[in-house]
This record gives sequence, structure tokens and C-alpha cells, in this order.
Amino acid sequence: MDMQISQPIPEGEEHNTAMIKNPLESGESPHEAMFLVLAYLPLFELLSMTQVCRSLRDALRDDILPWLNIVVEKPLNTHLSDDFLVKMTSKANSRLKILALINCFKITDDGLLQVIASNPHISKLYLRGCTGLTIEGVLGAVKLLTKGNHKLKSLSISGIYNVKREDFETLGHLMGINQMQEKEGTKNLYHRRNKSSTFRQESQPSIDVDICPKCGEVREIFDCPRNSCIRRKQLIECRGCFLCVPRCEECGVCTKDEEEVGEAACADILCLDCWLQLPKCSFCNKAYCNQHAYQQSLHPDSSGFLCSDCKFHATQTSHD
Ligand SMILES: [Zn+2]
Ligand SMILES: [Zn+2]
Ligand SMILES: [Zn+2]
Ligand SMILES: [Zn+2]
Ligand SMILES: [Zn+2]
Repeated sequence: MDMQISQPIPEGEEHNTAMIKNPLESGESPHEAMFLVLAYLPLFELLSMTQVCRSLRDALRDDILPWLNIVVEKPLNTHLSDDFLVKMTSKANSRLKILALINCFKITDDGLLQVIASNPHISKLYLRGCTGLTIEGVLGAVKLLTKGNHKLKSLSISGIYNVKREDFETLGHLMGINQMQEKEGTKNLYHRRNKSSTFRQESQPSIDVDICPKCGEVREIFDCPRNSCIRRKQLIECRGCFLCVPRCEECGVCTKDEEEVGEAACADILCLDCWLQLPKCSFCNKAYCNQHAYQQSLHPDSSGFLCSDCKFHATQTSHD
């Protein structure tokens, strides 16, 4: 990697060059403070650090502190393989405390169980959207993590297929969860479901799925963020899984009626309030949710944008 600056340096900015220069080439050690922040870096940055220079790489090899809480999310999640996970978690020397794999669909039961077997002190295990795992694999992992005096505090399995009522009950039993315990006060909101910062901080052990009051399936159950929700007032519960209660992607409110939703350019649902506030395709007037806003193409003749469908049709006609 060539990081030398070829352009003339504006006066007063010379001090910046020391930071831009590759420490390996310059032979300088990174500032001491760098070593202190390592334990707080997200995984992607942490792994990038091991590439920066030899002294950081050595520091990360010898220090287990940065590796005790492993959170794999975007952009690493889609690439994470069993082998890499096993290698990465081995840096914690069997002392891994939190393992959070968010939508890591390449991870299999074998990989997970290998990591769990050598890290029996994990207290929080998040496997949301890891569709390569089976409920049998999860049950095996939870059995290992609840052996003897050890307590698994928090488990997230939303998105894993074919979880049956018996499996859910076994998990609750293993973790010592009191089924009667009401989850009062803590609302689970649909539009915050993918935020890693919302990892539960509860003192009681918890699982992120439950039995849907509407369909009876074991799924993640969402609450309505609207305190004054009309359905709640009318005593028609709007609590349920994502299939039973369709919700706005942006704000999580329940949207049952056609007139309550705006037309979306992606496959998500947008409530009328959110749709009104979002920018719309110059041609079809559909809006993207914020997560899919990157699919907008610049409109050649206006300041607006074209959705991917309209862009596709525009290129088709221009080729005719
Ligand atoms: Zn349901
Ligand atoms: Zn509602
Ligand atoms: Zn909304
Ligand atoms: Zn359009
Ligand atoms: Zn969307």
C-alpha cells in the first residue's frame, strides 16, 4: 500500500503527514493511546488494525481483552466462515463472554459448536438471522452453556428456521426462564430489530423469540411503538410476529389497512406518515425506506431520482 503524498503540503499541515505515512515504512511505533483503544474497536476496525503494522499486530496477538466480546455484523457477516470464526474466537483463550453473529448465514452447527465447546463461559449468545444454523445446533450450544453453575443470560435466535414450541420450552427450561414473567415496560420495536446497540441489558435471562399470540408460531414478537394506537384502544391487539402484524419499516407502527400505507419502491412497508417524509421516485412517486435508499439512481434531467424499476424501463426504451 503506497501512502506517500506526492502533492505539495499546504503550510501548517506538515504534522498530518506522520499520521498518513505507513508506520511500517517509517519505522515509527503507533502512539501508546492506540493500544488502549483496541479493546473498544468494532471487529471490522480491529481486524483492519492487524494489517496496519507489526507492533499493532503483535499487540493484538498478545492481548486477549479486545477479543472477549465478538460482534460480527455488516460488512463482515456475509463473509464469515466456520474456519475464520474458530480462528478469531481462539484469540480469547477460552474466555469469550459475548458472541454476537448477526446474519452470518455461512456459519453452520459444526462451527458454532466448536466455538462453544472451547468457550464455555459465554453469557450472551446472539445468532439472529444465522440461517445456516439449525435449532438442533442451537439446543446443543445452549446445553453446553448452561452446564453446571454456568448461566447463559441472553439468547437471540430470531430468523433461525423451524423452531418448534417444544424447542422454545426446552431453551427456556435450560436457561431458567420463568414463562409467566411478564415483559412489562420493555417494548420490542420492529424498526430497531437490526440494531446491535439494542442487545438486551436485562438482569433476568431472556430469549428474543416467544409464542406469537396470533398464530402460535415461535417468532420474534413486536410491540406497537404508538402509545395511542387506535387498534390498542379498540382492544384489537397489535402485538404479534412480522407475518401477523405488518409494520412500517421506518417507524414500526402496525399497518393493517390499505389506506394507511404509501407505495414503496422496495419490498418493505411504509406507513403514510413516513412515506410523506421520504424522497420519491420522479417517475412513479414510490419511496425507498432508508435501508434501501442506495438503490436510487440520479435522474438525468432533474434533481430527483429514479427507482430501480423506472431506471430499468428508461434504459430499455433508450435502447429501442
Ligand atoms: Zn404470528
Ligand atoms: Zn398498533
Ligand atoms: Zn412509519
Ligand atoms: Zn419509480
Ligand atoms: Zn426497504
